[in-house]
Amino acid sequence: MPRIIIVCPTTGADVPTGHRTQDFDLSAVVEPRSFRCPVCQRVHAWRGDDARIEAGLTPAAARLAALPQ
Ligand SMILES: [Zn+2]
Repeated sequence: MPRIIIVCPTTGADVPTGHRTQDFDLSAVVEPRSFRCPVCQRVHAWRGDDARIEAGLTPAAARLAALPQ
């Protein structure tokens, strides 16, 4: 199942939110959700408008996404 990805506002990298597309309908995520970024270790908030389904991950982000959560 594809992961839900946002762009890290600190590093500009694509990062997985830890959620997958079966968890949410992105268009329905209107309240900000928070997660700890695996790239910069800060907590980021995201909404459906900010997120996208994984596709064309950068190689670095794909490696991170393959790590156990
Ligand atoms: Zn980050």
